[in-house]
Amino acid sequence: MTSPLLALTSEEWENLCDGCGRCCLVKLQDEDSGEIHYTNVACRFLDSGTCRCSDYANRAVVQPDCMVLGPDRLEVLDVMPWTCAYRLAHESRALDRDPAELSVAGRVVSQEYVHDDQLEDHVVDWVGNRDPESHL
Ligand code: SF4
Ligand code: SF4
Repeated sequence: MTSPLLALTSEEWENLCDGCGRCCLVKLQDEDSGEIHYTNVACRFLDSGTCRCSDYANRAVVQPDCMVLGPDRLEVLDVMPWTCAYRLAHESRALDRDPAELSVAGRVVSQEYVHDDQLEDHVVDWVGNRDPESHL
């Protein structure tokens, strides 16, 4: 089935983002299960006040871990937060939630202040790539 995302113009594509900032949180992957765990640690380029990237044009270069989503990279969606507007559109789902409630503003700490060894202590359950209500 063709993704509804592929019918969007580039302007519609950009406008779809609700600016929650959730995709810019550092993620850990379980070596055995492959499971993705989100942390409350934000990429060093995320402005945690506005939830905007401070170097969006160069994000793929300045941050190799950045999940650059695009019409030609829809596979990235599987790792994106299950609440992400792109995933919702792609999966033809609706979320009964105010986008403002999804914002990470005020809930995260910058990567600049957290050592890699401490990341496991920052795993949180309020964001993830699997819907906690789903048993899929
Ligand atoms: S570099 Fe990527 S992960 Fe980091 S803030 Fe910018 S868009 Fe988000
Ligand atoms: S998770 Fe999705 S909706 Fe939220 S900032 Fe990232 S791309 Fe935009």
